[in-house]
Amino acid sequence: MKLTFARLGNSHIAGKALLEALGIDVVLPPPPTKRTMSLGSLHSPEFACLPLKVNIGNYLEALEKGADTIVMVGGIGPCRLGLYGEVQRQILEGLGYDFKMIVVEPPQGRLDHVIRQLREITGAQPVTQYIRAGHIGWSKLTAIDALEKLALELRPFEESRGCVSSALEAALKCIDEADSPKAVAFALENGKEAMKSVCRKTDSKKPRIGIVGEVFMVLEPFVNCEIEKCLGEMGVLVYRSIYLSDWIVEHVVKDAFRIFRKSKLPYELAKPYLCHFVGGHGVETIASTVDYARQGLDGVIQVAPFTCMPEIIAQDLLPTVSRDLGIPVMTLVFDEHSSGTGVLTRLEAFIDLVQMSRRARR
Ligand code: SF4
Repeated sequence: MKLTFARLGNSHIAGKALLEALGIDVVLPPPPTKRTMSLGSLHSPEFACLPLKVNIGNYLEALEKGADTIVMVGGIGPCRLGLYGEVQRQILEGLGYDFKMIVVEPPQGRLDHVIRQLREITGAQPVTQYIRAGHIGWSKLTAIDALEKLALELRPFEESRGCVSSALEAALKCIDEADSPKAVAFALENGKEAMKSVCRKTDSKKPRIGIVGEVFMVLEPFVNCEIEKCLGEMGVLVYRSIYLSDWIVEHVVKDAFRIFRKSKLPYELAKPYLCHFVGGHGVETIASTVDYARQGLDGVIQVAPFTCMPEIIAQDLLPTVSRDLGIPVMTLVFDEHSSGTGVLTRLEAFIDLVQMSRRARR
């Protein structure tokens, strides 16, 4: 079996380590490029949301490299994610590819279901092997999140443009090469030191902007035109609302074991504006905006795929949140035609607005 999965930021490093520790041959899709986007858009329904198009592009490029099994996550709720496993299977089969698709559905408290799905991917293995694989995968994922978070804190203070991003890349490469949790911890500490060493002394006078929105758009720099990097290099402290390790704890671990209670905080924060689940990250988008306004951030940017229903609902509510809590909010909607230059222009205009609003408040 040559297994592949769609890319999501740098999480493939952890996914690959976990699967390889279980003896699975992993074929990673190449990093997404214009070709990935073109392939995905060419073969997907026009009004499908961007994650589906990019995933189709990823799968096609992985199948070209010899993958024969695709793993993707399923979903529940009002948005289209639950349909996408079947849609993707039909598109790829229609193009003549011979492969097996395994859709991993949310656990919803059914541990037996999780174990069955896991066995379908990995075959029967001793429990100790799962624990070892989980440990290395988890240590890499949390290390990646820690490094990316640090990069957001340091970029506005870097000595020369791009040096924090270069140090981050080098640190991620070491995390990828580490072959044990101890080696990952060592690579993490070295990476942090290397990133800090290319920065001037930090101060707190930089504008602070939160990024909220749909999980794929927040976490995958290729589709959001590297918004975090652009803002950081413009001297902005970026607060990201979603980290994959937090998302997994909340939506996979707590959902599988049901002995831990899922956090009700997003619903409590979003309550005056949105009181029920609308699919995807609609509630979280509102909740994080409210949270950032209360923390005194200077602005919020919502990143959403074109035609994403949960984010459209959130987008409609954000002007009210912005007015009530006095925080500037901008929505960026992305599709296959989005360009880095267009996004940069809008970011520059938004930063000007945020600076004016900061001055007015002072
Ligand atoms: S949350 Fe939005 S982008 Fe994601 S699958 Fe649902 S509709 Fe598509």
